[in-house]
Amino acid sequence: MSALPRELRCMSTSDKTSSNNKTRTPRQSKQEHSQSFLHRIDVRFPWLKLVAVIIIGGIAILDLMNFTISKTNDAYDRIKIAPMSQHVKATERVLYGKMLVALTFDDGPSPDTTPTLLDILYQKDVPATFFMLGNMAKNNPDIVLRADREGHEIASHTMYHQNLIRISPSAAQSDINEAKSVFNNILGHTPSLTRPPYGNINDNVRSSIGTPLILWSVDTLDWKNKNTDSILQTTLSQVHDGAIILMHDIHPTSVEAVTTVIDALRSANYEFVTVSELAEIRHADLKSGSSYYNFRP
Ligand code: ZN
Repeated sequence: MSALPRELRCMSTSDKTSSNNKTRTPRQSKQEHSQSFLHRIDVRFPWLKLVAVIIIGGIAILDLMNFTISKTNDAYDRIKIAPMSQHVKATERVLYGKMLVALTFDDGPSPDTTPTLLDILYQKDVPATFFMLGNMAKNNPDIVLRADREGHEIASHTMYHQNLIRISPSAAQSDINEAKSVFNNILGHTPSLTRPPYGNINDNVRSSIGTPLILWSVDTLDWKNKNTDSILQTTLSQVHDGAIILMHDIHPTSVEAVTTVIDALRSANYEFVTVSELAEIRHADLKSGSSYYNFRP
């Protein structure tokens, strides 16, 4: 080796080194580099492995839960899985946090107009509250039963639409009781709400009525104007979340206006409920003899 010229010796050493480099592929070099990198990380941050296991495990559990939820197609079943929703009642589960109104119809049921109104409410899937007169209900029990069967609330508007504050206490009591008897005969129970005629209330009415008194916060004046556009404009100008809207199902113009009123309120993001549902959703403490005009949030 020493006999070789200096240049050749250098070349030989260089070749040898070069030859050694050729036996280690770039991939191997990379692996070695990454192994040493991981080792360095492991030494410096020994807790990092545990954190990684927790994160990956958490993702796996969440993924599994999501798979379980998505296996059921029913929306309510999906809601039931969420622990926070379990205490929420059925009506609130759908309507909690939404803007609500209650459509109310007085003075019926009339065989000329109420069945058409029930058709519209059925097509629109809108529940309403009917403050019926006992004498009208007595003559049209099939309409009362249909309204009840189709999910509407049947409430009392007394027997003969007398002005209860202008008649004797005993006459007022007699009128109220006669209506209760009529509704009990048709439905098997007395109504849980009453609207006194003309909204007139005195101490005698409060003490003898035996149910909460439901008034209104939106008066469409449908009985006076008998004009569909006027009913719509009055409703839209006065409506608010928790409103009780007063209409009368004995006037053809009122029934005619209902379709556009429903569409307009839906466009303004209102949902429809009965008065009792509205009171329940808004956690109102309904008391016999007390007056209620609306159920704001
Ligand atoms: Zn009335």
